[in-house]
Amino acid sequence: MYWKNAFIYTLREDPSEAEIISHKLMIRAGMISKVSSGIYNYLPLGLRVIRNIERIIREEMEAAGAAELLMPAVVPASLWQESGRWDLYGRELLRVKDRKDNEFCIGPTHEEVVVDIVRRSVKSYKDLPLNVYQIQSKFRDEIRPRFGLMRGREFIMKDAYSFHASDVCLEKTYQLMKQVYTNIFSRFGLDFRPVEADSGAIGGDVTHEFHVLADSGEDKIIFCPECDYAANVEKAAAQRDTHFGASLEEIAQPEHVETPNKKTIDEVSEYLGIAPHMTVKMLVYKREDDSLVGVLIRGDLTLNEVKLKNHICAEYIELPYDEELSVAGLVPGYMGPLGLDHTLPIFADYSVKNMEHAVVGGNKEGVHTRNVSPRRDLSHLEYGDFAMADAGDSCRCGGTLDSCRGIEVGQVFKLQKKYTSSMGMSFLTAEGKADTPTMGCYGIGVGRTAAAAVEQNFDSDGIVWPEEIAPYAVLLISLDPKDAEVAQLTKTLHDTWENRGIDVLVDDRKERPGVKFKDADLIGIPHQIIIGKKSLKKGQVEYKNRRKKEKQSLGIDAVAEHI
Ligand code: ATP
Ligand code: MG
Ligand code: MG
Ligand code: MG
Repeated sequence: MYWKNAFIYTLREDPSEAEIISHKLMIRAGMISKVSSGIYNYLPLGLRVIRNIERIIREEMEAAGAAELLMPAVVPASLWQESGRWDLYGRELLRVKDRKDNEFCIGPTHEEVVVDIVRRSVKSYKDLPLNVYQIQSKFRDEIRPRFGLMRGREFIMKDAYSFHASDVCLEKTYQLMKQVYTNIFSRFGLDFRPVEADSGAIGGDVTHEFHVLADSGEDKIIFCPECDYAANVEKAAAQRDTHFGASLEEIAQPEHVETPNKKTIDEVSEYLGIAPHMTVKMLVYKREDDSLVGVLIRGDLTLNEVKLKNHICAEYIELPYDEELSVAGLVPGYMGPLGLDHTLPIFADYSVKNMEHAVVGGNKEGVHTRNVSPRRDLSHLEYGDFAMADAGDSCRCGGTLDSCRGIEVGQVFKLQKKYTSSMGMSFLTAEGKADTPTMGCYGIGVGRTAAAAVEQNFDSDGIVWPEEIAPYAVLLISLDPKDAEVAQLTKTLHDTWENRGIDVLVDDRKERPGVKFKDADLIGIPHQIIIGKKSLKKGQVEYKNRRKKEKQSLGIDAVAEHI
């Protein structure tokens, strides 16, 4: 491929809206461009990275016996009504109507569609297990689309769905998929970690997230350096809730409650003192008699129902959100002003007016509270602070836990019978009885993985692509494209490598060498071959390894074999 045909336009300056390195560099390298908030073009150079990621995913999925299909982006509401998610999913779901007023959504995930496909054909245990996947564009109307491909609204996902006659069989495929994900992210050349995750909306099920480790990651991971324990903070917090167990009620000492029992949701939200320019989702825990237990608030929450022991989580509501005061911390339910009648932690990533205590750790004997005044600095309190203090019961070896930041690039999930049962799918067992299949689902964010790769692979000059997903393997920089010998060698090398299946990009633009070198480092192709007439007179070309930055002279006979 020649640069003039490759549609690559680089930028010298960082785009003003870009906050993190991958967003800046992918825009500057001409890999993506913004169309609208959270909606991007994949330009030729960026698309090549996406295609490489997809190729590796396909190879590993097919090797594990999964079959590729493609489902529609536009999904009729009727399927989502069957599963019950039409009413539960919230505002991340983009709903549209056709000319006849029929309702549809732009699929944010495809459990409903895949169950509908499979239930039409699969009737017997003999058809199970099966695993199908697609690579497709999803749409989620994220509250805060940001960081380029990292948190888009339209984004490419690989989503796989498996169906089984038994939980034992599901467990086997679940473990296989975890292994497949480990293979995939290893082949990408990324530093990653599988972590236990909180099943949130679905409740009680097993799930793991795969995180690429990076300081810019939106998620916090708690891990043990001594053993293999690793969990995201939500999971660590959930483990802590479970651990609190019976002591929850014990901790709710009446003397801690300064105000009368029940508060209405309106009163609680009014209490939170909220500015109008943002929204935050809020989970409201209620008992069966409708009394309020507590609220769970997080800026990016997408869950609509959480089961917490015998408490019923009723609903979430959206509230305006004062971003300026944003902190993450745990506010115990017994804090006076909220007047909750029983203790339940409030996870906050906002600040609360007049907050009196924040829990920073706790165990069966009680909680450690710190006196805080919200108008003072709460930024030292992170959501993970308390989780870390408590997860030490979950860690197998009792080691001292540590934390780091991660980017969630994939997730595997035991869905069990949630969708097959709500959508009435059944099969005949070997004994001739009707049963409901059990399901797993397995997602990978394709675009987010490309961005995460940049977060781990860059230097002051630009991107340093890992070999397996680099847009091209070799960049041939011709410094004197008009010189006949230079042009001849450039063409010979280009053709030789193309014939061998090595992707090569030729920069034979009429530009100064400095411009070409800068662009070369910015777009991050792993191997650079520089051909100039001066060195060619001596029978030499120059080789530069983008990662090591080392330059080396090569004889022209050796260069073709060097790559
Ligand atoms: P997050 O917690 O970051 O919002 P999620 O848990 O909602 O992600 P999943 O439903 O698990 O996402 O989707 C599978 C994968 O799709 C994620 O692991 C992630 O890699 C990717 N993904 C999810 N949301 C986005 C997004 N808005 N932009 C880009 N990729 C995304
Ligand atoms: Mg999400
Ligand atoms: Mg997540
Ligand atoms: Mg997820």
